[in-house]
Amino acid sequence: MKIFKFGGASVKNADAIRNVTNILKGYESEELVIVISAFGKMTNALEDVINAYFHQQANLAEKVTFVKDYHFKVMNDLFENNHAVFTKVATWFDEINTYLQQPVTESYDCVYDQLVSRGEILSTTIVQQYLAENGLVSNWVDARQLIRTDNTYREGKVDWETTPQQFKKVVTPLLSQGFVVTQGFIGSNEIGLTVTLGREGSDYTAAIAAYCLDAENMTVWKDVPGILTADPRLFKNVTKLDRLSFREAIEMTYYGAKVIHPKTIKPLQNKSIPLMVKSFINPAGEGTMISENLESAYPPVVVVEKNQALIQVSRKDFSFVDEESLSKLFHLFAQHRVKVNMMQNTAIGFSICINNIPERVSGLMNDLRQYYKVFKDDNVELITVRHFHENILEQLKHGKMLLLEERLPDTSKMVLKNIPVMERIG
Ligand code: ADP
Ligand code: ASP
Ligand code: MG
Repeated sequence: MKIFKFGGASVKNADAIRNVTNILKGYESEELVIVISAFGKMTNALEDVINAYFHQQANLAEKVTFVKDYHFKVMNDLFENNHAVFTKVATWFDEINTYLQQPVTESYDCVYDQLVSRGEILSTTIVQQYLAENGLVSNWVDARQLIRTDNTYREGKVDWETTPQQFKKVVTPLLSQGFVVTQGFIGSNEIGLTVTLGREGSDYTAAIAAYCLDAENMTVWKDVPGILTADPRLFKNVTKLDRLSFREAIEMTYYGAKVIHPKTIKPLQNKSIPLMVKSFINPAGEGTMISENLESAYPPVVVVEKNQALIQVSRKDFSFVDEESLSKLFHLFAQHRVKVNMMQNTAIGFSICINNIPERVSGLMNDLRQYYKVFKDDNVELITVRHFHENILEQLKHGKMLLLEERLPDTSKMVLKNIPVMERIG
């Protein structure tokens, strides 16, 4: 059996869903689990709903209407107006509205997961019904019956004991009946509440399914021809990598390559399940194949993490940053859930480059200031180059201030800041 994953861009409107359906027609004879994300940018739109609800903003109804209209537009384009899917989806929006009329009783992260998950429930329902209209037999399975997580809302940790058992029990018997359609991104905890796996987590869901069902391979269908040497939104001269080792893919995604969720590769590598990255725009294209032991010479691969903060910490009394204070620092990073993307220590100072998530960074800064002298640089970017050569590093640094640099034999990391125009002229 095989796993396919279709992300938001591949199901952003009725034409996109027709395209996915056409791709699937070519695989009718296969045992296939199809993992689908919320339509287009619907997760962002649901985040707006959640914020409006949590902060009791006047525009809550307007935000819900936007999400509802989006789904109804897609359905109007795909189905005759007496199709049963309309009643089903309308009932869900009634349920959402009832939920939103209740006062907030749970934590933000818990409320977030209960609401944001609606995006995937809606998208999979609509797509599954459309597949049926087109003669493709499939079963819709609620991923919350499959993926068991802990209680870390918005970043659920998978229970690797229970989850494979649930997949085998629920999915395996259905495979011979047709496709199995399920949601990316969502699971549930022991008490049955929805827990999401982190933004962009649908790739990870597909890998969990592949691992649990011992899939032959997994394919993620993207809006790019495969894995490229850099994000095509940021660089012009990019080329496709035809083959990539698991190791290389783990490094790229760990450093922030936005094409695949970083947790995706490990479960696949553990069971040697190849991952194909293919284009839903050009499904006949070869894409990129990620698998084991592909040692080859790679071209330079650039990964840019924007929206970073560089924090420099030193002791108030100019003494060394010793092991004890390092352990205290890391305790604070973990407590505030900041991800350290790069770090460097000198005799009296310690620098870290982290994702600049304001609500987390401000809490961390407050705590750090109690013990240390702290300096923060916002609006910096972290550029990682695998298989670098000097020319490419010079090009990337051009017109920017280098704040921190680290070089390993195969990897160069640079924290850079744009030089303000006045300084450049001077
Ligand atoms: P999905 O719809 O499956 O969630 P994403 O939008 O998360 O897909 O991922 C695809 C996007 O990743 C591409 O549109 C591209 O801009 C971006 N991307 C970033 N780095 C790379 C890279 N190295 N190779 C290909 N795409 C990349
Ligand atoms: N819909 C979720 C998100 O946008 C999960 C995913 O698309 O992977 O983050
Ligand atoms: Mg994604």
